[in-house]
Amino acid sequence: MHEMSLMYEIIQLVSEDAKLRGFQKVKQIQVIVGDLSNVLPDALEWAFLYFCRERACLLNEESQLTIIREKAISQCQNCLFQFEPDYRIALCPKCNLLDGLIISGETFQVEFYEGSD
Ligand SMILES: [Zn+2]
Repeated sequence: MHEMSLMYEIIQLVSEDAKLRGFQKVKQIQVIVGDLSNVLPDALEWAFLYFCRERACLLNEESQLTIIREKAISQCQNCLFQFEPDYRIALCPKCNLLDGLIISGETFQVEFYEGSD
């Protein structure tokens, strides 16, 4: 489950930044998870809860994770029609060409975090 190591990386980076800013705790972390990012939101949530219980870095039982889902959107390079692909490669529903370019859904990043004393 690579979400475990992804989550730990996030917690470490956020905690280091929070320490530099003089915070004692990390209250909330908000991440954006694209539908095509190969990250499972449920597994991410589970990993976060685990690290909260372990009080890893600056987390504690009251820390919260907010996951914002980013929809997958592909744009056909032939007719410019935008559609929601099931996979990275998808047929344009209008012209049936395999000419879609992913324009949304691959994001995996920390949007913001909130620290406290
Ligand atoms: Zn098309």
